[in-house]
Amino acid sequence: MSTTNVESFERAQRVMPGGVSSPVRSFGSVGGTPYIVERAEGAHVWDVEGRRYIDYVMSYGPGIVGHAHPDVVAAIRAASERGTSYGAPTLSEIEMAEELVDRVPGLEMVRLVSSGTEATMSAIRLARGATGRSTIVKFAGHYHGHADALLAAGGSGVANQGLSGCDGVTAGAVADTVVVPYNVVPELDETVAALIVEPVPANMGLVPPEPGFVDQLRAACDRSGSLLIFDEVITGFRLARGGATEWFGVTPDIWCFGKVIGGGLPVGAYGANRAVMANIVPLGAVYQAGTLSGNPLATAAGLAQLRLLDSAAYAELEAIATRLADGLQSVFDDAGTAAIVPRVGPLVGLFFTTGQPANFDEAKAAADNGMYPQFFHGMLERGVALAPGPYEVMFPSLAHSAADIDRTISAAAEVATAMESA
Ligand SMILES: *Cc1c(COP(=O)(O)O)cnc(C)c1O
Repeated sequence: MSTTNVESFERAQRVMPGGVSSPVRSFGSVGGTPYIVERAEGAHVWDVEGRRYIDYVMSYGPGIVGHAHPDVVAAIRAASERGTSYGAPTLSEIEMAEELVDRVPGLEMVRLVSSGTEATMSAIRLARGATGRSTIVKFAGHYHGHADALLAAGGSGVANQGLSGCDGVTAGAVADTVVVPYNVVPELDETVAALIVEPVPANMGLVPPEPGFVDQLRAACDRSGSLLIFDEVITGFRLARGGATEWFGVTPDIWCFGKVIGGGLPVGAYGANRAVMANIVPLGAVYQAGTLSGNPLATAAGLAQLRLLDSAAYAELEAIATRLADGLQSVFDDAGTAAIVPRVGPLVGLFFTTGQPANFDEAKAAADNGMYPQFFHGMLERGVALAPGPYEVMFPSLAHSAADIDRTISAAAEVATAMESA
């Protein structure tokens, strides 16, 4: 091999803050040097030293059919030969919008953007424009990307860096953001434009909603005339064919998508019914635009991936996730490790604690007890790549075979035993 992870990461740190393009990748919360990826295929990634890992990061969600799926690669190749961006409408983006609208009951129109952050940022602007109100209510520990107004008490990288707020975000920028504890139905008044929620929170570890909680949010919004925003950047087209709307049988007013809908290329989308979307320029007066929005490579990749995701695929994905979650749980139980492996559909979490955390404070107590970095490095040494931070979840994909899952479980058994005897 021509280079090593250490050598490459030293180069990276000279020219990029922390050596990374997004903070959680820096290994800041687990210590050590990140593996520098050279390529990936199916359920595996290879680093620049030629080491192979079973990958549960999967780009934090987009890789639901596995890396470099032949259909997705072929779609990108074919699209790229027709040009990479035009600044004019394309059939591919129309088909993408149709696909999203077809899958989600109540969703009538979408606007394509280039990331999940853009989707949520635009969604709150839309909610404020549509209601004429200012306040946005969000839950502590829920992550909605890095737009200023939503950077109060976020999960994911915000939690990993130990930031409650964020330098550079002015008091004015978050003055209309109210942060409330999760799994408690908030009181909303007539100043509230929108309540934004991850339908299944997956950026403070996996913290399932209490039974009926999502329905109660819908009712609370109806009482105050506030809009309910589902941030489905993770749950969208992962929980089910129709995302969280189908999973919970609850229809929000505005949806945000990202990750899965881009097949690994930069894409996001937000949408609503026709009346709400009529507020967006050029129909209405809420401005939102993007040079690369609806990019033909991204829509081609996303469509190719979505077309692989039929009901049979969701059943298979859930079976894979169940094998992983149940296997890990019994390994910890056998080793006498205080750990729980929550699962919601295809999403799998991990907390080194005895009871399921129900909110951000409980999730933080479970995540910051020093156990995760040990487990993470033990697994990495055995060729299993988990997210390098305790607030992320595992993303098993359709490419993870029973053998991959079983190798993961036996690696976990070794690591749990070693941790208990240390
Ligand atoms: C990843 C994520 C975002 C932000 O998406 P980016 O594409 O990283 O900007 C927003 N909301 C949730 C729930 C996410 O998991």
